[in-house]
Amino acid sequence: MNEFELIDFFFKSIPHDRSDVVFGIGDDAACLQIPAQTQLLVSSDTLVADVHFLSSWDAYDIACKAVMVNVSDIAAMGGSPCWLTLALTLPDYNQQWLQRFAQGLTDSLSRFNIALIGGDTTRGPLSVTLTIHGLVPANKAIRRSGAKVGDKIYVSGPLGAAAQAVVFLSRTDIDADDLHCLNQKLMHPNPRVDLAPVLQQFATAAIDISDGFSADLAHICDASQVGANLNLAKIPVHPLVENYQGNNAIEFALSGGDDYELCFTVSSADEKEFLHALELAGLTCYQIGIIEATPGLRARQLTGEVTPLDVKGYSHF
Ligand code: ADP
Ligand code: MG
Repeated sequence: MNEFELIDFFFKSIPHDRSDVVFGIGDDAACLQIPAQTQLLVSSDTLVADVHFLSSWDAYDIACKAVMVNVSDIAAMGGSPCWLTLALTLPDYNQQWLQRFAQGLTDSLSRFNIALIGGDTTRGPLSVTLTIHGLVPANKAIRRSGAKVGDKIYVSGPLGAAAQAVVFLSRTDIDADDLHCLNQKLMHPNPRVDLAPVLQQFATAAIDISDGFSADLAHICDASQVGANLNLAKIPVHPLVENYQGNNAIEFALSGGDDYELCFTVSSADEKEFLHALELAGLTCYQIGIIEATPGLRARQLTGEVTPLDVKGYSHF
């Protein structure tokens, strides 16, 4: 199979149900119909073999993870994901691998009603770059820079499970059910697009938790020129992280990456209405701290003492 047959067979054939794709794969560029009164969100993420995933992973899982981390960036902006391009670099032609990869793409894209509209296919060390496009009502995109002194800090779900899964990647002595649950969190994160309508209305700033909670909250603080004070007793730690990390569990939840929950801020004046909207939507989020004027991150320890918090998270350089 040559490059063009490969594209047609594995990628052009992936179905979608979007009438706003005027045309997709097959021309020099795709053409999309953007509705009036909406704005376009664009974001790219690269996943490199043996950095973001193991080469030994099922290609189905690699495709799902690549889609989910990209969808998560659109979720963090309060948008809805619509279109995707795929720049794929492959070491060789492996039909079985491509079939599993295309199946992972098909399933994860249909879950969010996203169309694959183009890409690029090259030979080289295995890597997957997706560019996702989403829509948001005009001027409703949530930025990192909007947090104000007195805003409450929220997180959308339990933290630490993906980092725990990474620790267990080479272990063979872990309970199979626990390992399966943790690996699901690592390979199939659940991007929080379900929060978009509520966040559009109430969030003053938001970010998705990819590098590690404290590092990502620090990005909000830097962009907003504020600081944060957390209450460690309120941090939602994944129960398996509690089990395996014991006293270290909170530390783990604060610095572990790859959770793809959202961290966001809500003004105190809007908090009651926000909580009501969440409840109506059947969603739960956790209030874990408050924005303060003094730069930097602080945390109330379980002992009641407030101490500076080290910002730890993943950085490629
Ligand atoms: P060009 O050389 O003009 O950039 P290509 O030959 O690279 O075009 O691609 C042909 C068509 O196939 C384009 O529409 C491109 O977007 C699409 N395409 C290429 N690789 C992929 C891929 N991995 N997934 C989806 N579409 C792809
Ligand atoms: Mg061209």
